[in-house]
Amino acid sequence: MAHLDTIAVHSAREDLTGRGVHVPPIDLSTTYPLPSLDAGGAAYETLATGHRPGDGDSLVYQRLWNPNVDRFERAVAELERTAEAVAFASGMAALSAALVATVAAGRPHVVAVRPLYGGTDHVLASGLLGTRVTWTAPGAVAAALQPDTGLVVVETPANPTVDLVDIAAVVAEAGDVPVLVDNTFATPTLQQPAHHGATLVLHSATKFFGGHGDVMGGVVAATPAWANRLRQVRAVTGGVLHPLAAYELHRGLQTLPLRVRAQQETAALLAERLTTRADVTRVLYPGLKECDPLGLVGTQMSGPGSLLAFELRGGWAAAARVSQRCRLITHAVSLGGVDTLVQHPAGLTHRPVTADARPGEALLRISAGLEHVEDVWTDLEQALDAS
Ligand SMILES: *Cc1c(COP(=O)(O)O)cnc(C)c1O
Repeated sequence: MAHLDTIAVHSAREDLTGRGVHVPPIDLSTTYPLPSLDAGGAAYETLATGHRPGDGDSLVYQRLWNPNVDRFERAVAELERTAEAVAFASGMAALSAALVATVAAGRPHVVAVRPLYGGTDHVLASGLLGTRVTWTAPGAVAAALQPDTGLVVVETPANPTVDLVDIAAVVAEAGDVPVLVDNTFATPTLQQPAHHGATLVLHSATKFFGGHGDVMGGVVAATPAWANRLRQVRAVTGGVLHPLAAYELHRGLQTLPLRVRAQQETAALLAERLTTRADVTRVLYPGLKECDPLGLVGTQMSGPGSLLAFELRGGWAAAARVSQRCRLITHAVSLGGVDTLVQHPAGLTHRPVTADARPGEALLRISAGLEHVEDVWTDLEQALDAS
């Protein structure tokens, strides 16, 4: 099998040379001509029940199928080494589809390991989609299972503390309950959760896949049975990915491994230098020995990633001053793009999380970008010194 970098560049482009083009054509059709009522009806039935179109079938309607979305999905599946993938309008639309499918299967109980992305925590805690949640620790998943548990949800590295979870251990504890791993932070460049037994691998494609802060999307890499259910939910609820967004995300994947590794180098150096400062009380980064007690970097993950967090001696007020005083680094939520971002999880991304589970007030999270590391460090250093 080809190396990941090669798959990233070439996946879901196998037909292009035969078509006499170099990049995928963009198909913006919202509706498609039907050869006959009977053939159109049959194609409609196939797609609306979550199946792939047959050769020569009409694609009927964009909410049911789009060729650019299909290409992006096939590329993600190949990178994650799953059979299929299903893409959505955002990461939250992707997660919502997985939860709706779980409820529809009559198993609405979810076991979830905190911390999780604030939006994920909120949708589970609110029960808005008809799920019931039990929060637990990685070693206590088995004890939290109930007869109607339909899904176990974990994130590793977790947003925002970059805690690592042993995926294979959680899968073993979950037994026959499917495990969903949010792989947004690691990307398939550093970690392929399906290889460790995860049934569903979720991405906010808005982050590393797009990589340039200009496109939203979400995707779930999954088994054929789950992909079928997720496409059915997508067709019914309409959280579809736009074809232009799919085109951009598919293109973003071509540079994903390169960007992830370069951003990781910067993050590692920032983390190391932050540990030497007296005004920083704790640095959270999987590349620091004390942050990886299970030794998952080098086994489950091929590298520590490009997200780090740190705590400031001065608490919320100091964190507010530092994020405001950054010049080159942008004070903004989101992550995984070409530019370095800093944000305060407790006040922003994790604001909806209940107080007992919210990240600390002194915590700032950095997503390392592609600028020269010395320029990023100089900016961070001046912001810390001035605060
Ligand atoms: C951003 C994010 C999400 C949500 O994705 P959207 O594309 O913003 O809907 C889910 N999980 C993680 C880890 C994220 O960082």
